[in-house]
Amino acid sequence: MSNRVVTRTFKASIRNHSQVCDDLDSHGFAASKLWNVGRWTVQRVWDAIGHIPDADELCSYLKRHDRYGDLHSQSSQRVLQELGEAFKSWYKQDDPDANPPGYRKYGDEHPRSTVTWKNQGFRLDTQYNRVRLSKGTNMKVSRYAADYILCEYTLQTDDDQTLADVENVQTVRAVWGGEHWELHFVCKLRVEAPETSGEKTAGVDLGICNTLAVSVGDETLLYPGNALKEDAHYFRQEEYETEGDNGPSDHALWARQKKSRRQAHFLHALSKDIVEQCAERDVGTIAVGHAKHIREDVEWGRHGNKRLHDWAFETLLSHIEYKAEDRGIAVERVDEATLKTSKTCCVCGLEASTNRVERGLYVCEGCGLVANSDLNAAENMRKTVTPNPSADRSNGCLAQPSVRLFDKSTGRIVPQEQAVP
Ligand SMILES: [Zn+2]
Repeated sequence: MSNRVVTRTFKASIRNHSQVCDDLDSHGFAASKLWNVGRWTVQRVWDAIGHIPDADELCSYLKRHDRYGDLHSQSSQRVLQELGEAFKSWYKQDDPDANPPGYRKYGDEHPRSTVTWKNQGFRLDTQYNRVRLSKGTNMKVSRYAADYILCEYTLQTDDDQTLADVENVQTVRAVWGGEHWELHFVCKLRVEAPETSGEKTAGVDLGICNTLAVSVGDETLLYPGNALKEDAHYFRQEEYETEGDNGPSDHALWARQKKSRRQAHFLHALSKDIVEQCAERDVGTIAVGHAKHIREDVEWGRHGNKRLHDWAFETLLSHIEYKAEDRGIAVERVDEATLKTSKTCCVCGLEASTNRVERGLYVCEGCGLVANSDLNAAENMRKTVTPNPSADRSNGCLAQPSVRLFDKSTGRIVPQEQAVP
């Protein structure tokens, strides 16, 4: 085993949200205002001398600006750094049609921007799961009010990890999720990873609503994706039924929160099992298809769930990445769109759109392969990293995957035989 230090972000919900949301709101608005002041300043300098000031220049121009004092100095600095980075990546694109970074406005209002606290701006109490976030000087309105925002948090992790275990917490970010604030802790973490990684490559076809398929070459696994879909459907029903005249009722809010917790749990359990199964099979590299709007996910789109789908996809992928990293397994993102993994036969390589047959079966006109279409895609993905092992894939494992299901009674992924239906 070897020791390595990795950077990881832990998300946390805020237990005393109603007590701190006003303060977080005002800091989120302040971050947007400062961004806009910075944006305006960039424009003025740019128009005057044709030079776009970078983050350091912006900070020194604006250090004494009134809006700079709305946040802790390191937090203000971070806002201007983000603006500088946004401009940098904009002019790196070298695309005359791309728009430069814009102002943060929402009608006449300012939206809630992410606020970042660096090491001098927060104090963490891992024993009681609390964090003190320093207010900006201008926000310390009364000498009787606290000059910090005290958040009580619950980490959203299924690994029983606490912040006491990490090497150090580098930054704390307050992120507005559309309905409430959450905290992101960016940490340095020491992980024990096996010295030698496995020999094999696993190809993963990340189906979120249908099926997730894994191919290790001589063995295949299928994860039907029903749990996420059923849940989403059930809880949306609840939300509609309880939507009141004055916005969502308490019950609807409860349903939403419960839904997001269950979805988060499902994605943790799923990624954990995939990585464990790969580690057991001596996998050293996981190849995962990655492209925007990979599939015409008909089923999912019909229920207007595209955003949920994209969120679940990204979350699942990043879970797999960090859980694999813990076990010394590398994850490679493969651009699925250019590879046409779902349209190519994994045995003979014939590519034809007519190959894809209904109901999830792939039937090849060239070699006669009949296989689960998700497994065919997964096997193609695997081959992008490790071309053919000696195994004869024309039979066997592509037709007989091990099916693993989400067991609602235990919240774990188990082999089909053991799952409670
Ligand atoms: Zn074929």
